[in-house]
Amino acid sequence: MINKLLIANRGEIACRVIKTAIAQGIKTVAVYSDADRNALHVKMADEAIYLGPSPSKESYLKSHVIIEKAKQLGVDAIHPGYGFLSENAEFAKLCAKNDIIFVGPPASAIEAMGSKSAAKHIMEKAGVPLVPGYHGDDQDESVLKAAADDMGYPVLLKAAAGGGGKGMRQVWSEKDFSQALNAAKRESMASFGDDHMLVEKYLTRPRHVEIQVFCDTHGNGVYLFERDCSVQRRHQKIIEEAPAPNMSAHVREKMGEAAILAAKAINYVGAGTVEFLLDEDDSFYFMEMNTRLQVEHPVTEMITREDLVLWQLIIAEGKPLPKAQNALTLTGHAFEARIYAEDPKNEFLPSTGTLRLLHAPEENDVVRVDTGVEQGDEVSVFYDPMIAKLVVWGENREVALKHLTSALGEYYIDGVSTNIDFLKRVASHPSFVSAELTTTFVEKHHDTLF
Ligand code: ADP
Repeated sequence: MINKLLIANRGEIACRVIKTAIAQGIKTVAVYSDADRNALHVKMADEAIYLGPSPSKESYLKSHVIIEKAKQLGVDAIHPGYGFLSENAEFAKLCAKNDIIFVGPPASAIEAMGSKSAAKHIMEKAGVPLVPGYHGDDQDESVLKAAADDMGYPVLLKAAAGGGGKGMRQVWSEKDFSQALNAAKRESMASFGDDHMLVEKYLTRPRHVEIQVFCDTHGNGVYLFERDCSVQRRHQKIIEEAPAPNMSAHVREKMGEAAILAAKAINYVGAGTVEFLLDEDDSFYFMEMNTRLQVEHPVTEMITREDLVLWQLIIAEGKPLPKAQNALTLTGHAFEARIYAEDPKNEFLPSTGTLRLLHAPEENDVVRVDTGVEQGDEVSVFYDPMIAKLVVWGENREVALKHLTSALGEYYIDGVSTNIDFLKRVASHPSFVSAELTTTFVEKHHDTLF
């Protein structure tokens, strides 16, 4: 039983997890850095632990300090949120060693998905469809180039250790290969301390569709349908939605089953997301599996009316999945817009400062705002500058989009630059309205969006 939960995170996701814990009568422990002394997640929790100075390395990533304090306070379980320690296999092991439940998958599953090339080997064996490409160990330039020449250009070079779109390069012709490879390797080495590369066929008009899966410790797995996260900028998601527009029930089922197959291949437990690229001809390919709760999980909660954090806690306690596949239903349509303190006029650079005015749309049955800040708070240089996630639901896509547009119109923020006007332009763009979504949406409509 989980009686006391520590949330090893900050911001909106820490607040989100605390809400469910409170509703379940679970005592909560927050952690904080210097910059977060007065943060909302600290105020919401029953107890709070000071970790150290503001930089993440000196606070939110201090796994040993977190474990020590958790033990002192009699914590039963730790929820890592997303980012920080959430996909750190060593941290999951450290929890287990100290008899604390890690609300997430076993360390072995995190490790298996930690490298894109290792993950592809496992998925290939399990029969999960992969993007055509090379994910071998031989990293000789001639081998990588031969693989690219064979499959034909364009190709995408990807860092095996990659994440957040780093260490990726498109290559459009043979003559550009060498230079692109060196650039991708350099970036990968700088970001991840490793320059192992994959070569993939570059799909020119794919959609990013991901499946939410849950597995329990009794060998059961279900999928809670999909999210379309095609609208991206530099591989960063901007507006996500569920279900994926125009996806047939047949493709949904096939992709859901492939996701379960992927999860079972690594003996997965807990909440996970299997990301696929969906091509124009409805073929889909495994990209990677994220072994944590995703930023965009609320759109799934809106269309399934399930509390995904509650599911995580139930599974972490060793109980079976709350629902079987045939008991899960999909109702209506949901969007999530990520409200960021950033400057679209200046390369989307983070904008720091005091939130002198923070007026969010009122929450109701169809509008939900997940945030970790209040008016007067500081958006600092230390962390991700997300201010909030605006989530809306409607009985169909058209209605949901109306709610999104009007809710965006109710946002007033002063003190930092935000992407709200940019989000409004995306949401009202004729191609977005008619759901012509591909991962190149922003690039393609650059002139009308900026
Ligand atoms: P990261 O882990 O760095 O986020 P991913 O492998 O998840 O990298 O890919 C991020 C994004 O890059 C995807 O959402 C998609 O838009 C694009 N992408 C990845 N692989 C391909 C591919 N083979 N062809 C076209 N686009 C791709």
